[in-house]
Formats: sequence, C-alpha cells, structure tokens
Amino acid sequence: MIFQAPKGTFDWMPPRSESVLAIRDALAAPVRRAGYSYIETPIFEDTRLFQRGVGESTDIVTKEMYTFQSKGGQSLTLRPEGTASVMRAVLEHGLYGGPLPIKLWYSGSYFRYERPQAGRYRHFSQVGAEALGAQDPAIDAELIVLALDGYASLGLRRVRLLLNSLGCRECRPGYRAALQEFLRGLDLDEATRHRVEINPLRVLDDKREEVRAQLTDAPLVIDHLCGACKAFHEEVRGLLSAAGVSYIDEPKLVRGLDYYTRTTFEFVHDGLGAQSSVGGGGRYDGLSEMIGGPPLPGVGWALGVDRTVLAMEAEGLLSERPTRVDVFAVPLGDEARRRIFPLVTGLRRAGLAVDMAFGGRSVKGAMKAADRSGARYAVILGERDLEAGAAQIKDMTTGEQTAVPLAEVVDVLKGRLS
Ligand code: AMP
Repeated sequence: MIFQAPKGTFDWMPPRSESVLAIRDALAAPVRRAGYSYIETPIFEDTRLFQRGVGESTDIVTKEMYTFQSKGGQSLTLRPEGTASVMRAVLEHGLYGGPLPIKLWYSGSYFRYERPQAGRYRHFSQVGAEALGAQDPAIDAELIVLALDGYASLGLRRVRLLLNSLGCRECRPGYRAALQEFLRGLDLDEATRHRVEINPLRVLDDKREEVRAQLTDAPLVIDHLCGACKAFHEEVRGLLSAAGVSYIDEPKLVRGLDYYTRTTFEFVHDGLGAQSSVGGGGRYDGLSEMIGGPPLPGVGWALGVDRTVLAMEAEGLLSERPTRVDVFAVPLGDEARRRIFPLVTGLRRAGLAVDMAFGGRSVKGAMKAADRSGARYAVILGERDLEAGAAQIKDMTTGEQTAVPLAEVVDVLKGRLS
C-alpha cells in the first residue's frame, strides 16, 4: 500500500514548489524593508488561547480546530491562524513595555478542519504581519500598502482591496442591536437564527443566495460608527488614496474572527472562483484584553501563500521551467567520477549552481540530464580528457566545445558566467 497525504492536504512538488518559496519571500520582502522583525511561534498552543482569542462563536473555534490532548493531559490545538499566537508571545515576553509599535512578521503552516475544495485546504500556508501598540491610522494604511506591494512585486494585476470599518466597543453594540433587530425579521433557518443571537455580524458573510437576497436592506456598520471611528476610517482612506492605492468600500465586509475592530480589509482575486480571498486582516484593539493582557491595540494581516500561487497561475505568471543550474558535470567512467567530484565541489564553493550526472549513465543519458538541468555549460570528463589533464566545456546553447586544463575549469567557468 502506498500512503496518500491526508484529505484536504497536498504536497508542493517541483517545479511548482520553487514558486512557493519565491512567493513567500516576495510577500515578506516589503514588511521586512519597513522595519518588521521575524517571529516564530509554536505550531500548537493552549486550546484556550484560540477559544478566547479567535472567539467561541466563530466557525474556526466551533468546527475547525485540530484539538488534541497532550500526554500530560493538556488540551492543545494546532494553530488555525497567527495573530493570537503573536499576541500571546508579545504578552508573555513583555514586549509591550518596550518601544512601540512592535512590528512583527511571520510565515508558516496553519490548520483548519474545513470542507476541502479548490483553494481551501486543511493545511495551508500564510505570511503574516502585525503591528502592536499604536492606534494610528497610518499603520493600518502602511500594512495595506505593504501587502499590495508584495502582490505587485509578483506581477499580480488582478488583486482588489475591499475595505470596511467594524467600529469599536463604543459604537459596535448599537450597530449589533440594530442588525439583530433586522435579522430577526427575516426568514432564516434554525442555525442561522442561532447565529443572529450570538454573532449577528457573521450573518452578513453568509454565501447562500437565499440569505443574501434578504440582506439588501440590512443596516450597515458604516452608518453606525461613532465620531472617533468615522474619523479614523476617513484618515485610513485618505492615506491609501495618497499612496495611490485604490480600494472598494465594502460595507458588508466582516471577517471570520471575533477580534476585529475598526479597519477591516480583504484582498480578493477574480481568478480563483469561490475562494477569492488571497489575504485579509484588520485592526483588533480588544484582542490583548481578551486573552488576559493589558490594553494593546493592534493591526495586522495574513496573506495566503497557496492561493497566491493559484492567483499567479490564473494570471499566467508561473512558468513550469525546471530548477536551473549554471553548470552540469558529466563524468564518463569511475576514474572520471573520482576526478570530477572535487571539481564540482570547487565550482559550488566558488558560488556557482552545479549538478552532476549520477548513477554511471551512458554519454547519451548523461547529456540528456545536462539538457534537462537547464545548465548553460556542461563539463564533460572522459578517459582521453583524463590522460590530457583537461575537461571539455560545452556551451549548451551553441553546442561549442573547448578543452580546458582541469586546474583552470573553475576560473574559466566563473569568468564566463559572471
Ligand atoms: P484568515 O486567517 O481567514 O483571514 O485568512 C487569511 C488568508 O489565508 C485568506 O485570505 C486565504 O488566502 C488564506 N486561507 C485561509 N484559510 C485557508 C484555507 N483553508 N486554505 C487555503 N488558504 C486559506
């Protein structure tokens, strides 16, 4: 029996896996240039962190967590998202006592027991960034611009920014009550009616047509914002416009996590079908207190690496080119292998990307491997070359071949490839 990856998970295999690495780097590069430092937290945490931090009434906590008992009897959960862990680490290490804002970025695996479909997996990968300790609209705008710069650096042209504000603890309760009153008057199934009572904002996010059709006249949070939230939101919008960023006001945008306040945003791509969100985030000024910390405002985002790969494929931006090396070494015979091995090592130590033919192949097989490697040059060492103390350097584009003394191969190739 050959095992298969568990349902809802998959392997990134070459050559696509190379794109995954490049995409992670590209999404992180803008925040790294903007003063965000790298943080790495454990893949599992105390279950209560997510229950409190993500919210008891969310789909993530009620249905999607991978929760298990440790051998010591503690309830642990594979992280379903990154923000709660980052906040936990900041509180645990007392970083909030130092200079603010604390700007952090991360990259890793996340786990949600979701119904698998294209673009929605049970194990997925995100690059995230969080800025803690500043209630400044400029930092909301900064994060949004940096995410968009990451997408743009990959050549993506069809990422749109949806923007909303969810208010704060002053104005949200009034809105929540108004929304609940409206929703109670609708024709909804039992589960949705229950949701109206515990988390009415999430009903706005319902994807079913029969529900959406009834939501056209739902009260909008934007009409219920207090003066401070309104001013904050206007400031964020102004800063985005000043940075040349266009956005779509989406007054029904809510997100699947309970901790969001004020600025809320999502990056969507139109080439992905139902799972159109490539990234999202927002402000979460109450999260620290929800998990037992002092008041510590924050804002952040998480960008889905897997969906960014799909978005790039949808825009035709990923080529299926194999990994390229500069040089491919071809030893013909055992003695040649013994001599070419230190040469390959020397070339690599000189900074060149080098591979060689393994497994005692025929000349034809080895040259085919050289071709497939994408190398600019092949270094061929046969018996006659050994006697002459030279190797053949073949230009794989022109087919031109020259004999070069073994001792000079590294310098010659370095020169030709620089
Ligand atoms: P969230 O943490 O739900 O705000 O998600 C942020 C981003 O992570 C989304 O925009 C997606 O790109 C990605 N993401 C979330 N859940 C999944 C999943 N189950 N499979 C793949 N990507 C996901």
